[in-house]
Amino acid sequence: RKIIIAIDGYSACGKSSTAKRVAAALNYGYVDTGAMYRAVTLYFMEHYIDLTNPKSVSKALGEISITFHHNDSTGQNETYLNGLNVEERIREMEISQRVSEVAAIKAVREAMVKQQQKMGKSKGVVMDGRDIGSVVFPNAELKIFMNADFDVRAERRQKELFDKDNLVDLDEVKENLRKRDKIDTTRAESPLIRPVDSVEVDTTHMFLEEQVDHIVQLATG
Ligand code: C5P
Repeated sequence: RKIIIAIDGYSACGKSSTAKRVAAALNYGYVDTGAMYRAVTLYFMEHYIDLTNPKSVSKALGEISITFHHNDSTGQNETYLNGLNVEERIREMEISQRVSEVAAIKAVREAMVKQQQKMGKSKGVVMDGRDIGSVVFPNAELKIFMNADFDVRAERRQKELFDKDNLVDLDEVKENLRKRDKIDTTRAESPLIRPVDSVEVDTTHMFLEEQVDHIVQLATG
């Protein structure tokens, strides 16, 4: 029986790397909802959308199509915005700095949630984000809430950026995580919360493989 696995938590505590591998282990689909908010942010930036103007925002949302395509050479799913591969672009600091503000807009969330619900309709999906277990799939069979110590999260994110030839000062990474945590947990629309029926996984002292095994166990055991 295929299920929906919802993985929520703070930025940079290993949600997507874990979710991707859990999906592969179970032969499930994987949806990175953060990538969707990042793609919307990129589009808004490129088109100088005034975030305070609901008409411009809703018009822009109507022009956006976000899809994921498997890249056979890397084995990863990559994010496409209106047919263009934006996978690298949306991971840049410039986007990280603005995404939480965009993700706090009600109309943006409504549009994304609708698409995410469609993507999970056939079950057999691992979806990671901030509101998956609380809003997108409140009936998900398995809900995980991931967390890790702040400094560990910052170091991991810095390394991840570095591995993509993106040298960012640790203080800048910390500042960005702090700001996003703050906006994500205090916004009016679907703030990041730990669903009461979720299993908490603290990854501070865990290796990626352990995280993956633990969740696969929970899903199958
Ligand atoms: O997961 P990632 O760090 O790529 O997400 C980028 C941002 O998108 C988050 O900081 C948050 O503001 C927003 N987000 C959200 N809801 C989701 C996924 C991401 O608000 N389900």
